[in-house]
Amino acid sequence: MLYRCQYHARATMNDSAISSDTLERLRAIVGPAGLVDEPAARAAYLNDWRDLFHGASPLVLRPASTAEVAAIVAVCNEARIGIVPQGGNTSLVGGSVPGAAGDEILLSLSRMNRVRHVDPINYTMTVEAGCILAEVQRAARDAGRMFPLSLAAEGSCQIGGNLSTNAGGTAVLRYGNARELVLGLEVVLADGSVWNGLRGLRKDNTGYDLKQLFLGAEGSLGVVTAAVLKLFPAPTDTATAMVAMPSVEAAPMLLAALREASGDAVSTFEYMHRACLDILEAHTDLGDPFDARYEHYALVELTSSRPDAGLGALMETALAHAFEQGIAVDAVIASSGAQAERLWRMRETLPEAQKNLGAGIKHDVSVPLSKVPEFIVRATEYCERTVEGVRVVAFGHIGDGNVHFNVMQPVGADVTTFISRGGEITSRVHDIAAELDGSFSAEHGIGVLKIHELERYKSPVELDLMRALKRTLDPNNIMNPGKVINQS
Ligand SMILES: Cc1cc2nc3c(=O)[nH]c(=O)nc-3n(C[C@H](O)[C@H](O)[C@H](O)COP(=O)(O)OP(=O)(O)OC[C@H]3O[C@@H](n4cnc5c(N)ncnc54)[C@H](O)[C@@H]3O)c2cc1C
Repeated sequence: MLYRCQYHARATMNDSAISSDTLERLRAIVGPAGLVDEPAARAAYLNDWRDLFHGASPLVLRPASTAEVAAIVAVCNEARIGIVPQGGNTSLVGGSVPGAAGDEILLSLSRMNRVRHVDPINYTMTVEAGCILAEVQRAARDAGRMFPLSLAAEGSCQIGGNLSTNAGGTAVLRYGNARELVLGLEVVLADGSVWNGLRGLRKDNTGYDLKQLFLGAEGSLGVVTAAVLKLFPAPTDTATAMVAMPSVEAAPMLLAALREASGDAVSTFEYMHRACLDILEAHTDLGDPFDARYEHYALVELTSSRPDAGLGALMETALAHAFEQGIAVDAVIASSGAQAERLWRMRETLPEAQKNLGAGIKHDVSVPLSKVPEFIVRATEYCERTVEGVRVVAFGHIGDGNVHFNVMQPVGADVTTFISRGGEITSRVHDIAAELDGSFSAEHGIGVLKIHELERYKSPVELDLMRALKRTLDPNNIMNPGKVINQS
């Protein structure tokens, strides 16, 4: 959601908040290889990806094993010191950096990056939390399998961060969110004990499913140190297309038609409004792949592990039928890997390219798929009515009902004046999503950025349950304090 400037709470580091004896004990646990003391190197851990959140900490620790993590957490629990677990630091909600007071330690999982085991017969792999997502995908590929979680930050984000944020990405439609890709977890609990739940079982009805507590908890209940992940057969056939649609209302109908026609082989369905193509044309080497100009587009991918799936022909037939039905008007089907990669780059480059429009008020909402068109139409009308000349950039994982709805400043507008409208605009956009039975945070989580919204939209019963869980699992409030849920 929000806007630059507001969270620049840069503070001076306050080392005295933690006793020097405790600091020494923590340093001794990881040894010199696990310490980040050099100021420039520390800055990378203390500032977030968007450069919106700037924290302070007397210690950046990089433990090399679960035992080291457990020892650190035990000391912090005893001394009541807050711990901020960090993966690739690509959080978009300020969840991965400490607060400004300098009284929390930063715990980076980046040295815990071993693939412990791949079991291609069980279709599972056991990995440590600090494995970069792209490396996890590669290790699966090397074993002839696929790990389907995929997002634009995959070269930097870590599997521990992905699981702790229940990351989504571009293949949720087919394979589910990160939560659905996990069979087992290893977690260091807030008292320093280790829960070894590294089971590779698809059936295990032995009481509460404890791993679900930590998935999506954003480090507020424990430190994820390893996981057993589900693997899938590697795709052997892929067909990729950019499809132009006559209206945003056509999008869910086109997706439904393609799912039916392809035997549910649709693995990606990403919406882009015309404004997205204009941004790419103006600011990147990615020109419009169509001769004619349209208003609404979908990046569609079919994948199958059947060698004889014939997805290219299937895509052509399905699209021809969609043209007849009037739910698609034009399409570019990639005829090579390079062309497919270019279409994908259009979607993946977009978050970076839109920065060229200046300041933006960003939203990451979800509504039931059938209500996505109504959300986009109503929210766009509201924004255009409220701020003259505003530029709405809507795109995202529409196949999951997830829209990145970004409201960019009018050309030449005074940034401060525009940004000052952020609270009002965000409230209304989130209200529209709520009126359509949606969520104000589809993918990015709560962090610190959306705590206020959590309190606005969750029922008192849900908030009480969340607080009760937090109190039970982390009675001293040391796990990522101030993130996800306020204690009172
Ligand atoms: C360009 C870009 C594209 C993105 N696209 C998507 C997208 O398509 N879908 C999506 O869902 N998100 C997306 N994101 C957001 C982000 O990449 C995801 O939330 C990602 O899962 C975070 O992983 P990370 O390793 O960077 O975690 P971090 O940013 O380091 O941490 C995220 C949260 O998890 C906690 N955490 C991290 N590691 C652990 C651990 N081992 N144990 C306990 N807690 C931990 C942190 O304390 C923090 O609260 C995108 C971000 C960028 C910059």
